[in-house]
Amino acid sequence: MIQTEHSSIKILIGNMKTIDLLLDLLKRPSITPDDAGCMELLTDYLQQNDFQVEITTIGGVKNFWAIHGNQAPLTVFAGHTDVVPVGDENLWHSPPFEPTEKDGYLYGRGTADMKTGVAAMCVAAVNFIQENPNYQGSIGIMLTADEEGAAQDGIRKFMPYLVNKGIKMDYAVFGEPSSVKVLGDMIKNGRRGSLHAHLKIIGTLGHVAYPDKAANPIHALGNIITALTRETWCEGNEYFPETSLQIWEVNGGTGANNVIPDEASLHFNFRFSSELSSTDIQNRVQKIVEQQLQKEKAETGKSYDYDIRYEISGEPFLTRECVLVQSMREACTEGGRIRTSQCNDSSSQ
Ligand code: ZN
Repeated sequence: MIQTEHSSIKILIGNMKTIDLLLDLLKRPSITPDDAGCMELLTDYLQQNDFQVEITTIGGVKNFWAIHGNQAPLTVFAGHTDVVPVGDENLWHSPPFEPTEKDGYLYGRGTADMKTGVAAMCVAAVNFIQENPNYQGSIGIMLTADEEGAAQDGIRKFMPYLVNKGIKMDYAVFGEPSSVKVLGDMIKNGRRGSLHAHLKIIGTLGHVAYPDKAANPIHALGNIITALTRETWCEGNEYFPETSLQIWEVNGGTGANNVIPDEASLHFNFRFSSELSSTDIQNRVQKIVEQQLQKEKAETGKSYDYDIRYEISGEPFLTRECVLVQSMREACTEGGRIRTSQCNDSSSQ
């Protein structure tokens, strides 16, 4: 058993095969989106244990599919072999791609996220099959080397590719590090959505001495900011906190202290629950912006245009209570040692 701890892992009880496979994975400098031979290593191990393996390259990125059995239900263990860049190598106490044990911890890039998970999932699948040769169902392992970077040519494209081939997945478990203090203390059964918005308000350029000839987009934007930030987007639900909007950048001005600019822009992000879709939010943002600009026109006589652009990092998803969630909880609370909480969050993008 291995407990993840920041960029290292604490080795609690060693399953030797898992540790051996992990050490081999850690030695490969698979800086995203380079797989650096991790998938070949896993191919050898899984083929020796009766899995059928296929590596598919999409946009230069390697994606890995291994399957054992051909009947339903199909349970898939999923993850990635790539790691984030090492940064300043001088700041490392040990070389990032030479796994190093110190005081019961194993250090190396990718130990926590998520080569330990990959090694543990593969070894657990093989052990299960050996112990239960007549099990009902099939087991798949799905990996990509494009998770830590652009994440365009990984699971996003590989999943539809597999579905097109007729593969129907019933359950999927991602072996990402989600524990907070103790192994298994948090299961993530969903994720908030993330939406970026870039709003531009277009007014009329002018001199500060002659405001009647100009339309100041910064003034109009002020009211829009108030309306957007006071809106209750949604209260959340039993799995997700309320939807939040955070402004991360405001721009306006020409640099001259006597000029009313003709443009002002606002950049903000939504983290949203499964109560909303990104389309719901976009419709409501548009309504608020238009209402405020109409109000501006009615109260000041000034007219403004606007332009808005969105980037959707991901829609929210939620796996409700089901046999998979129950099994995960039971596995984590075996012997009543660990209390689990279900919590959903997205921390990046
Ligand atoms: Zn990860």
